[in-house]
This record gives sequence, structure tokens and C-alpha cells, in this order.
Amino acid sequence: MSTQLTPILTKFWDHPQSWTLATYEDNEGYQALRQALDTPAADLVQAAKDSGLRGRGGAGFPTGMKWGFLPPPDGGPRYLVVNADESEPGTCKDIPLLMAAPHFLVEGMVITSYAIGCNHAFIYLRGEVVHVYRRLMRAVEEAYAAGYLGKNIMGSGFDLDITVHAGAGAYICGEETALLDSLEGRRGQPRLKPPFPAVAGLYARPTVVNNVESIASIPPIVLHGAEWFSDMGTEKSTGFGIFSLSGHVNRPGQYEAPLGITLRELIDMAGGMRNGNRLKFWTPGGSSTPLFTDAHLDVPLDFESVAKEGSMLGTRALQIFDETTSVVHAVSRWTDFYAHESCGKCTPCREGTYWLKQIMKRLEDGKGLPGDIEKLDDICDNILGRAFCALGDGATSPITSAIQYFREEFEAGMHTPWFELFPPERSTLF
Ligand code: NAD
Repeated sequence: MSTQLTPILTKFWDHPQSWTLATYEDNEGYQALRQALDTPAADLVQAAKDSGLRGRGGAGFPTGMKWGFLPPPDGGPRYLVVNADESEPGTCKDIPLLMAAPHFLVEGMVITSYAIGCNHAFIYLRGEVVHVYRRLMRAVEEAYAAGYLGKNIMGSGFDLDITVHAGAGAYICGEETALLDSLEGRRGQPRLKPPFPAVAGLYARPTVVNNVESIASIPPIVLHGAEWFSDMGTEKSTGFGIFSLSGHVNRPGQYEAPLGITLRELIDMAGGMRNGNRLKFWTPGGSSTPLFTDAHLDVPLDFESVAKEGSMLGTRALQIFDETTSVVHAVSRWTDFYAHESCGKCTPCREGTYWLKQIMKRLEDGKGLPGDIEKLDDICDNILGRAFCALGDGATSPITSAIQYFREEFEAGMHTPWFELFPPERSTLF
């Protein structure tokens, strides 16, 4: 497998007007749609399955299979909802994609809607990113004006409307069923699954919920073929993805590469570690995934290999921390985040994240009590697998993995505050 890739979704991000319809059309834009509208819908679903594309929102569920879960048409509406509520700490790929090339998503949504028989699709956008909302609205308006949206798209007889909805800034609304509740005008809290949205989703109708990058990958798959896509990446984690690198590297940013690339290769692409420092720990898939260390530099970043090493590929949010960083301090920030963002619906997450936050703060300040490390492990054990949704599980991952790899720093938290162990003037992040 070659780790270098001809840029696909990031191909023309450097163009000064990259987000316009004109630039998109100059770069094969909407050619896949023309082709798709001449193709039976079932063949498009099959192409998505054959490509092996797995959901790019974090869970990696096969996209074509998800589309295939929709029950047969019954004359009522069915919906496509794009999850653009990108909020996982460190995850920064959908928002740059929407800013730089929003038409990938719009075209992908028209193709997907045609494939699944949907005439009204929604984009649920993270509420804080008003600039992205404006850009998306502009792209949708351009697509309507050009006849790529609305009635009788490109003379095919197929109709589609897209509604862009901005959330109100709650991490939980990225959980697909909380997102649906929020879109329906309720308080965003997760629903019990099953039923999965494919069976009873928006307004209790069959609904496909897909991530931005998953849907944006559809036009290139239609245009170049399922085999072209599945030839990239690894056998079970096919294709390419956008990796977001942040933290202690020389050139943080988005790097598009085949799945299976390693962190070592990505750090090279990002100009190496900042100040030539040594890598200490990193997240393979955002802060909800167990930490890795410098021992994992050569783990192929595909779903299977990362899981085999005890973590998750998640959203490919690679947050990179060097030797000047206190792991207790860093993890404590994430714990604050989860405690703040817990929706409060279930007790293990609501109460557990609050307790975790208090203990992490004690250890951070060098005021840990005897038994605190064991207490952290015990609380995490009582949240993991017992919370209503993945938020609770995610809150435990950085803590348990940090204790696993850096127990001595937690022990030091019994008597020494983090800033004495890692003086801020030496640290490049905090
Ligand atoms: P999940 O595995 O429960 O579900 C994944 C998808 O597959 C869902 O759309 C679900 O409806 C569908 N699915 C699964 N089984 C199904 C079935 N039997 N029938 C029909 N559909 C089925 O995972 P999840 O809770 O949706 O997502 C968890 C992931 O979200 C984590 O791995 C994390 O990486 C990611 N995440 C991402 C962000 C972000 O900002 N992008 C934030 C937090 C978490």
C-alpha cells in the first residue's frame, strides 16, 4: 500500500475560491451526479457496499450496509440526515472540508438521497460555527440555482430539498439520536436503540444518518468506481480519510491519506515534532479513544489494527503531545469537557463524570488522596458499558489508558502539582 495519495477531497483547498460552484465544476464537480441519475438506485447502494466505505464519523459502520437497512418503501417519507455536529476534541476534518469544498457534501447528499429514495435531506451543523453555516447555505443556494437541487434535478424527475439546521452547541447532539431529537425541536438527549434510525429515525420515519466525510466520499466513489476506492487502504478499512493532526507537530492540519498509514508517516508529512521533542502520548481517534504512546508510532491507522492495540480509530483526530506535557493535566481538561457536556439523562455518566472531574482535579493540583487512582479505575469501570450512549464510555478512555501508561504521574499527583513536574515555561501547549 502506498501511503501517498493523490488528494481527493482536499484536492483544491488551496484555490482562492475553492468553495464556489464554479471551482467545484472545474474539478469534476456534479459529474458523478449526472452519472448517478442514469443509474438504478439499487446499483448505487451496491456500489457503496462494494467500495467498503465505513462511516467516517467515528464508529466505522459500513455505509452501504446502513443504507441497506432501510425498510422497503411504504409510500411515506424517508430521510437523509447529515451529521455535521463535529465536536469531538481534536476532530477537525468535517468543518475544514465544509469551509473549503462544501459542494462535495451537497453532491454526495443528492446522490445518496436518490439511492435511498429520499426527497428531503437535512444537515445538522454544530451551532458554534456560524461561518460554516453561511458557507453551507451559500453552497445550497448555488446548487438550487444551478438545478442540482429542487424539482426535477437535471431533468431526471428526481426532487430533493436540503435544509441546513444549526444546533445550539451541545456535544451530545452529535450522538445520532440526540441529534434527531434536537432536529425535531426537543431537548437533545439520546434515544434508546434499537430501534435504530434506519427503522425509526426523524419523525419516526426511516432515516439514514451519515457523517459529512462519509457522504462527501460518495461522488468520487460513483465517478471512479467502487474498486478504485477499495483498492486503497487495507482489506477491511478501505479508501482514504482525512486525518487531523494537532498539538506538538510543526505543521498541524488536515492530511488526506489511505487508511493504514502510520502516525510516524503522518508526523513526517506534518514536518516532524515541534522543537525536535520526543513524542509522549497521542489520541488515535479523538479524546474518546484510549491514548497511545511512542510505542505505537508504527501501528497502521485502520480500524482493525488500532483496535488490536487497544484503542479505536474513531475520527482520526490525532492529538499529539510531547515530553513537556503533563498527562494528568491534559486528561483533566478532557474530563472537565465530558462532565460539562454530559446530558444528564443517565446516572453513570451524569454522576460518574462529575466524580471523575473532582478526583482528576485533586491529582492535577498535587492534592490526591490515598486510593484516588483505584477510585478512578473503579468509577470508570462502573461507567463503561453502563451509560446510555458512547459519551460515558468516551470519558473513561483517556483516564484508564493514561493510568495504564503513566501511573507514576498519577502517583506524583498525591504530593506534587502538575506545574512543578512540567513547568509551563517548558511546555509548548498549556
Ligand atoms: P454505533 O456503533 O452505535 O453506531 C454506528 C452507526 O451504525 C449508527 O449510525 C447506528 O445507527 C448504525 N447501526 C449500528 N448497528 C445497527 C443495526 N443493527 N441496525 C441499523 N443501524 C445500525 O456508534 P455511535 O454511538 O453512533 O457512534 C460512536 C462513535 O462516535 C465513537 O466511536 C466516536 O468515535 C464517534 N464520535 C464522533 C464525534 C465527532 O465529533 N465526529 C464525537 C463523539 C463521538
